[in-house]
Amino acid sequence: MYFGVHNSFNVKSILSIQSITKFYGRIRALHQVSFEVPPGSVFGVLGPNGSGKTTLLGIVMNVLHASEGGYSWFGEPPSERQRQKIGTLLETPNFYHYLSGEKNLQIAAAIKGHGQEDIPRVLEIVKLSERKHSPFSTYSLGMKQRLAIASCLLGNPSVLVFDEPTNGLDPVGIAETRELIRDLSKEGKTIILASHLLDEVEKVCTHVAILRKGQLLMAGDVNEVLMNEDFIELGAGAGAGGLEKLRAALSGLPGVKQVRDHEQYVQVFFENGIMDLGGINQYCFDKGVVLNHLQLRKRSLESKFMELTDERNPN
Ligand code: ATP
Repeated sequence: MYFGVHNSFNVKSILSIQSITKFYGRIRALHQVSFEVPPGSVFGVLGPNGSGKTTLLGIVMNVLHASEGGYSWFGEPPSERQRQKIGTLLETPNFYHYLSGEKNLQIAAAIKGHGQEDIPRVLEIVKLSERKHSPFSTYSLGMKQRLAIASCLLGNPSVLVFDEPTNGLDPVGIAETRELIRDLSKEGKTIILASHLLDEVEKVCTHVAILRKGQLLMAGDVNEVLMNEDFIELGAGAGAGGLEKLRAALSGLPGVKQVRDHEQYVQVFFENGIMDLGGINQYCFDKGVVLNHLQLRKRSLESKFMELTDERNPN
């Protein structure tokens, strides 16, 4: 049983997704996806085209039904009352081109059952007050998107859900939309957005869930999930024998998280930062392995994302 009105910041998660699976006929779009969206976060649902992002947002907005699993908003089962606290932008709204931005918002407010008194506030937030009398057709791409976001802000929802908010925008429009998302986050809104752009998620999101072919690969704090990892690349002797001895030696080295082959070298990832290269050289030498290659490398976020979402990668 749930009672009373919740303050968004009193709940542990704004949205809790519990093992959602979705089939379209025989196509499995989502498979047992679970994660939590913390209050006040800018939460990116990141994945390549077709990974299930839109399907997932459609389910939690009750536009689509999950085949299995469930979700809760504000710690409560989904309800119409809950959804009123959520502003959504899943598709580009149909604004009238010959009407002004303000007039379009008046129509949107009437359709959504909101009063007109909120319109000056939302125009101010999206920085369109000065252009409110101009016809929609005269707006730049970024202004059109900001008007769409203004329409989501009517009624002052505490949570905003955007599907690919910068899709189709020019670089100026992308920058304006990102700035607006940051401003809304500063105001305390929780923002959930789907994106196939790693760059977008890195720039505006505090948290991320990565989907590949409908499966959740990782979720959590963006800095942890997309952490720019350093690693060390080592080479030893000629032929497989040298590398085998090196691999065996490294597996006994304290703090090692992962050892993997890469071309003629071995790459080593550490749990907590990297020990000094001289120490590693000495360690290998003491184990009877003479190194012919020892280099500190950085794994770029881009390559990590590609690796995570690479269909050939089974993990
Ligand atoms: P995009 O960025 O291209 O929109 P996405 O990550 O949002 O991709 P979805 O649109 O959710 O992914 O699609 C997930 C999978 O479900 C894809 O294989 C897609 O072809 C399939 N799919 C989506 N909608 C339908 C539908 N109505 N009928 C059948 N299959 C669908």
